[in-house]
Amino acid sequence: MALNSSVTLIYGVGDSLAKKFAVLGIKTVGDLINNIPRRYIDYSNLITISKIRPGVVTLRVKLSLVKSRYSKRGLHLTEARATDLTGSVKIIWFNQPYRSGSINPNDEYYISGEFAKNYKYLAITNPACEKVSNFPVNTARIVPVYRLTKGLGLAQFRKTVKNALKGYKIAETLPKWIIEQHQLISKSDAINQMHFPESIPKLQLAKKRLGFEEVFELTLASELNKEANRGLKAIKISFNELLIKKFVAELPFKLTNDQRKSAWQIFQDLESGIPMNRLLEGDVGSGKTVVAVLSALGAISAGYQVAFMAPTELLAIQHAESIHRMLESTAFSKSIILLTGSIGKKQKDLAKLAIASGDAKLIIGTHAIFQKNVSFNKLGLVIVDEQHRFGVEQRKKLQSKTKLLAHILSMTATPIPRSLALTLYGELDISLIDQLPPGRKRVTTKVTIPENRNKIYQEICKELTIGRQAFVVCPHIDSENVNSRLSVKNVFTELSKTWLRKYRVGLLHSRMKSDLKNKVMEDFVKGTIDVLVSTTVIEVGVDIPNASVMVVEGADMFGLAQLHQLRGRVGRGPDSSSCYLVLSDNDKSTQRLKLLEREQSGFKLAEYDLELRGPGAIYGTMQHGVLDLRVAKLSDFELISTARATAKEFIKKSENLLQYPQLKDRVESLRMISNLN
Ligand code: ADP
Ligand code: MG
Repeated sequence: MALNSSVTLIYGVGDSLAKKFAVLGIKTVGDLINNIPRRYIDYSNLITISKIRPGVVTLRVKLSLVKSRYSKRGLHLTEARATDLTGSVKIIWFNQPYRSGSINPNDEYYISGEFAKNYKYLAITNPACEKVSNFPVNTARIVPVYRLTKGLGLAQFRKTVKNALKGYKIAETLPKWIIEQHQLISKSDAINQMHFPESIPKLQLAKKRLGFEEVFELTLASELNKEANRGLKAIKISFNELLIKKFVAELPFKLTNDQRKSAWQIFQDLESGIPMNRLLEGDVGSGKTVVAVLSALGAISAGYQVAFMAPTELLAIQHAESIHRMLESTAFSKSIILLTGSIGKKQKDLAKLAIASGDAKLIIGTHAIFQKNVSFNKLGLVIVDEQHRFGVEQRKKLQSKTKLLAHILSMTATPIPRSLALTLYGELDISLIDQLPPGRKRVTTKVTIPENRNKIYQEICKELTIGRQAFVVCPHIDSENVNSRLSVKNVFTELSKTWLRKYRVGLLHSRMKSDLKNKVMEDFVKGTIDVLVSTTVIEVGVDIPNASVMVVEGADMFGLAQLHQLRGRVGRGPDSSSCYLVLSDNDKSTQRLKLLEREQSGFKLAEYDLELRGPGAIYGTMQHGVLDLRVAKLSDFELISTARATAKEFIKKSENLLQYPQLKDRVESLRMISNLN
C-alpha cells in the first residue's frame, strides 16, 4: 500500500464504500490518513457503574436485551441493561433497530455516552457501543469525529482509518535536524495520535508537529517562488513623474495617504526590472481603482499595453466606463477597449486586431482577454481585480504571449489580516489601503431578530417609495432542510406576495443561467428592479449608488468579514444607508454580530473572525482549498513564526529537496498553486 494507492486497497473497503469516500474527496490512502478530524469526543474516562454520575461516561459491561419494539408513534426503541461487578444501569437506543441483533449476552462491551434523565429515569441514551478489545475506535478513548456523507457513518469511517493506519507504514517527511531542533514527534506518531489520541497532551504534540509542517511547507513553497521570481527579468518601466503628477493634480479629489503610498510602491516595482507580484488590499470603496489607473498610466505612457481583468462582465463594463471617464483628459482615452465574452463577433475581431497591432493600450475585460486567439503587441502590466488567484493556467497563457515578463497587480477587497497574508501569500508583496476617503458615510448596521421582520420591511418600503433600491441577501438557495426564511427562492416568493408586493422584486442566485443572471443584474443597475433578492453572488465591487438599504436574512450564518463586504454594496451614493442583519432564529445570540454595529473596518472584523472562527470564515467564499491551514491555528504566532524561520533556514542551508521526496512533491504542488505571476 502506498500513499497514492486507491482506498480500495485498505482492508474492508469495497467499491461502494470507496464511492462514498470519494464524495468527501478521499480517493487515496494518503487522502484518508491526512484527513484531519473535525473534532474529538473524550470518552477516555472509564468508570464502574457504582461511580456513575450524570454526564459523559464510559463503562465496561455485559449487556442484556430488555426490549426492542416500535412505539405507537412509529419510533423504534431498544432497551438494554448494562451490568458490571458493581451494579447495573439502563441503556436506551432510539431508532437503531439493528442494536438488538448485535447484543450477545456472553460478550463484554464498552459503552460511551451521556448518562442523563430520560423522561423519569436516569439512563444512557444512544451511546456508542463496541466489543471490548485492545484498540477500540468508538468508545473508551478520545474518539475522532470526521466530516461524513450520506451512507457513511462514523463507526465505519473510524474503522477504515484504523485499518489504513495498520496497513500503511508512515514514513518521515521532515529533515532530521528540524525534528530534533524543534522537538517534534515523528510523522507516524503524529498521524496516529491525530486520529486516535492516547491523551490530550499527545494530541497537542501531534497538532504541533503537523501544524509546523504545514506552515513550513507553505513557506518553503512561497520562498522558493519568490527566489525564482527574483531571477526573472521583467520589462522596466520608468516613473513618468510629469504625467503622473499632472494626472493626480487634475483628479476631482485628493488621494489618501495610503493610495499615494501604494502607488509609489507599485512604481518602484515597475522600475525594478523584476516582475512585480503585488497584492493591493483595501476595503470596499477605499479607492483601489484609481491606484490601478495610475499604474496603468505609467505603463501606457512608457509604450506598453495594460490588461485589466475583472471577474464578471458587469464589473468589466463598469470599470471601462469609469476608467474612461478618469482618463478623458489624457491622450490615451481613445485607446481603451472592452473585451468580454459576450460582445459581438465583429466587435471582438476589431478588438483583437487593435490588441495585436498595439493600437489598444488599455484592455479591460473578463477572462476573454487571455484566450488563445488574443495576442498582445507589448503587454507590460496585468491588473486583476477582485479575483484572488490569478491561476497558474492563466499565467502560462500569458507567459507565452510575451518575451519579457509582464508585471502583475492583483486587487482585493477581502481584508486579509497580516498573519494570514504572510503565511498564505508570503510570496506576494502587499500594499494596504487602510483608510476610506474622507467624508464617507458609514452604513448604519442593526442586528435584529426575525420577529421584527415586519417592521424592517416596512422601513424598506419607505426607502423604495422615495425611489431608492434595496438588497435582500439569503444564505441558501433552496428550502430543503433549512428554515424557509433562509432560502432565497422562498424569501423571494414571500416578499413578492406580502410586504413588497407593490414593488418590482428580482431573484438572483448562482444556479440560474448566466444570461438570466446578467439580465437581472442589469435590470437592477438600470433601476427597473427595485429589490434584488439574492444569495451572496452579488458581485464584489458592483456600484449601484441608488441602493441604500440591505437586509441579510440568517446573518449569523455568515462570517463578519463577509457581512462587511456584503454591506459594502450599499452606501455608495450620497444618501445615508442602512443594513439590517436578521438572525436565523429569535433565540440566536447577537454577540458576534453586534461587532458589525460598532466596527467599520474590514481589517478589524477579519481579525475578529480569525479569532472566533478561523480562516475558513474569511475565505468562505473564496476558492483556494488547498492553501487552507488544516491544523495550525493562525492565532498561534509562535508556531507560525518558528516554522517560517525554519523554512528560510532550510533554503539558506541549500538543502536539496531531492533528499526528501515527499516534502518535494508537496512543496512542488504548493508552488504551482500559490504562484501568482
Ligand atoms: P474600491 O477600492 O472598492 O474598488 P473604488 O476604486 O471603486 O473603490 O472607489 C470608490 C469611490 O471612491 C469611487 O467613486 C472613487 O472615485 C472614489 N474615490 C477614490 N479615491 C478617492 C479619494 N481619495 N477621495 C475621494 N473619493 C475617492
Ligand atoms: Mg473595486
